[in-house]
Amino acid sequence: MRTARKLKTKPVKKHIAQNNIYEWREDKMDKRIIYLDHAATTATRPEVVEAMLPYFTENYGNPSTVYDLGAKNKTVVTESREIIAKALGTDAANIYFTAGGSESDNWALVATAEAYKNKGNHIITSKIEHHAILHTCEYLEKERGYEVTYVDVDENGIIKLDELKTAIRPTTILISVMFANNEIGTIQPIKEIGAIAREHGILFHTDAVQAFGQIPINVDELNIDMLSASGHKLNGPKGIGFLYIRKGVKIRSFVHGGAQERKRRAGTENVPGIVGLGKAVEIAVATMDDRTKKETELRNHLIDRILAEIPYTRLNGDKDRRLPNNANFSFQFIEGESLLIMLDMAGICGSSGSACTSGSLDPSHVLLAIGLPHEIAHGSLRLTLGEDNTMEEMDYVVDKVKGIVERLRAMSPLYEDFVKKNK
Ligand SMILES: *Cc1c(COP(=O)(O)O)cnc(C)c1O
Repeated sequence: MRTARKLKTKPVKKHIAQNNIYEWREDKMDKRIIYLDHAATTATRPEVVEAMLPYFTENYGNPSTVYDLGAKNKTVVTESREIIAKALGTDAANIYFTAGGSESDNWALVATAEAYKNKGNHIITSKIEHHAILHTCEYLEKERGYEVTYVDVDENGIIKLDELKTAIRPTTILISVMFANNEIGTIQPIKEIGAIAREHGILFHTDAVQAFGQIPINVDELNIDMLSASGHKLNGPKGIGFLYIRKGVKIRSFVHGGAQERKRRAGTENVPGIVGLGKAVEIAVATMDDRTKKETELRNHLIDRILAEIPYTRLNGDKDRRLPNNANFSFQFIEGESLLIMLDMAGICGSSGSACTSGSLDPSHVLLAIGLPHEIAHGSLRLTLGEDNTMEEMDYVVDKVKGIVERLRAMSPLYEDFVKKNK
């Protein structure tokens, strides 16, 4: 048994040792793959993979066991929990590991709805939430008899606080508003929303999947009761995330079974994932300032050049209150999908709408919520940066986008009509 296991694990270790991961990246660069879809997912850092590997192979014990092989994994799970808690300014006891952002969002909504149903049946959220929130709200409305108010955002994608306040009822039990939007990058006035919720004795949850690791978050200063985050959006592994639950919040278990996560989330701990998430968070926090500075510079260059050099183009989302790595444009008279396909042929990975909506012809609910007409929402492009991107890449991307938009417009009957009318 031992030899068999050893044999199997060796090539993986050798793979890391020989830095094949770096080679693979260089290989990608040779082919000029420029990855600008970091809001969809990110590469797991080699340091994170390295930290995780022993927990697949040698240290594979179940943390709930008595013998040392398993029991010592309790310690590493606790260490990861502490790293995350420190990043949020809270105690490790308030961090619960889940299988990612979607599970955290589902849990926060469904389980508080259940736990507080004696108090009321009303939930407030925004129109620009991720589908993990919106579809869970629809489920609660249709199948469970809850009432949900979807608050509007302004033309820049910032939630209307006065509308949020007037939406509050005596039966409101939960407000859930995302920290930063995954499509247009807008950062919401989280502290104010938290204060409004607290003043009315309502719980406040925020989906911080895009924000955590990108901007500083202190849950106590911001009046946050629950917060969702995910590993793969911050250069950690996929399939691991957490929900922060402030001490004192009544919340039911969502996944029933064993007594893991202090009886609140059953299932044998994803030890490699938890270790990887901890490592990714540690690095994300340590590099945040430099990364923000670099990404903001690159992003501003990208935005400035695209708006200056491509006519009939707009930037979606607030210019200043947005994530350092997010740019989202609408180009009139073209289809975002065609643009994406042609960008892919030029080695550029971007997105239009969110990854979950591509494949469907509906324009993004976020772009509609900021008031874009359907035909303009259709012609949009989201480019989300990471710290490995370079200024040279930005210039290459602008040149490509410019050429492709010109070509697509030359083929567009809408553009032809427009040019005729404006002669
Ligand atoms: C990606 C994302 C999610 C879902 O996270 P998973 O870990 O992929 O389940 C939820 N909310 C937002 C804002 C996201 O960007």
